[in-house]
Amino acid sequence: MLPPFELLMPQTLPEALDMLGGYAPDALPVAGGTNLIPDMRGGKRTPGVVVNVAGLEELEGIRREDGYLVIGSGVTIAELLESSLIDEHAPVLRQAAEVFANPLVRNRATVGGNLGNASPAADAAPPLLVLDAEVKLVSAGESRWVPLEDFFVGVCDTICRHVELMAAIRTPVPAPGSFGRFRKLALRKSTAISVVSVAVQMTFNHAGRCEDVAIALGAVAPTPIRAYDAEAVLRGEALTPQVIEEATRSACDAARCIGDVRSSAGYRERVTGVLVRRLLEEVGAERGVESRE
Ligand SMILES: Cc1cc2nc3c(=O)[nH]c(=O)nc-3n(C[C@H](O)[C@H](O)[C@H](O)COP(=O)(O)OP(=O)(O)OC[C@H]3O[C@@H](n4cnc5c(N)ncnc54)[C@H](O)[C@@H]3O)c2cc1C
Repeated sequence: MLPPFELLMPQTLPEALDMLGGYAPDALPVAGGTNLIPDMRGGKRTPGVVVNVAGLEELEGIRREDGYLVIGSGVTIAELLESSLIDEHAPVLRQAAEVFANPLVRNRATVGGNLGNASPAADAAPPLLVLDAEVKLVSAGESRWVPLEDFFVGVCDTICRHVELMAAIRTPVPAPGSFGRFRKLALRKSTAISVVSVAVQMTFNHAGRCEDVAIALGAVAPTPIRAYDAEAVLRGEALTPQVIEEATRSACDAARCIGDVRSSAGYRERVTGVLVRRLLEEVGAERGVESRE
């Protein structure tokens, strides 16, 4: 059963921020409610006040602005799938949206809620990490952009203060010809939380060598993480089987897998290697096809 709480319905972002500030630390924002409401039912979160931020105009929309792709925190996963800007500039995020939960949840669940909940398995996190995303945190009279990597501090823990809301997420528009890939393994094909998820984003020079690369892993550490050592292995190299193998080993070394209801630690470690290797092989194959065209 839901514990008693007061539900506030602001009509604007400043109103929402005043409410959060006024009731801090006893107030929490709710967007789609697909994490917060189950958590409240289970007694994991017990805010006295819930501030509904769903539908606030200032948190909506996907746009291109000053070399960035800007995504409102209130954008739903379903809206990501409908966006031509996401198709064009962030296919890695689109791929994560395609395998996110199910259509019902995707219609409610927001990108801001996914990151704000800060599960190590949040599916929007690895794609946004490889796109070098920053999040805009706002409070009454203040705002700051923070690298997404610094936003997460632990399991379901972020640097977002009680008086703050995430207003938007931005990523530099990737260079043309950049390859993005996301893959998750879960216990079912839909409505399932990731056992492991992996995202890669890569660009190549004319000689076919990797110019820029980012690899991010979900559900293998207390927060979603970048695999920097694996990226260093790839930078400046062609995607040969030996290089892919070395990068895969390095990515596995970055993981700090634990066992839980979804998987043993050992299985997670193996799956991490399998997914990283497959994504790199796929990018290599696609890049090979492109360079012959
Ligand atoms: C059946 C089911 C299947 C699911 N499958 C997946 C899946 O495949 N992949 C996946 O990653 N997740 C999955 N989830 C989890 C959940 O749907 C997502 O994490 C979702 O994106 C949360 O968004 P929301 O808008 O519903 O967040 P809410 O529940 O509204 O909020 C989540 C948290 O973020 C905070 N928050 C919300 N908005 C803001 C904001 N603007 N600024 C700061 N903090 C904010 C809230 O206070 C709360 O702590 C699933 C959940 C269910 C119930």
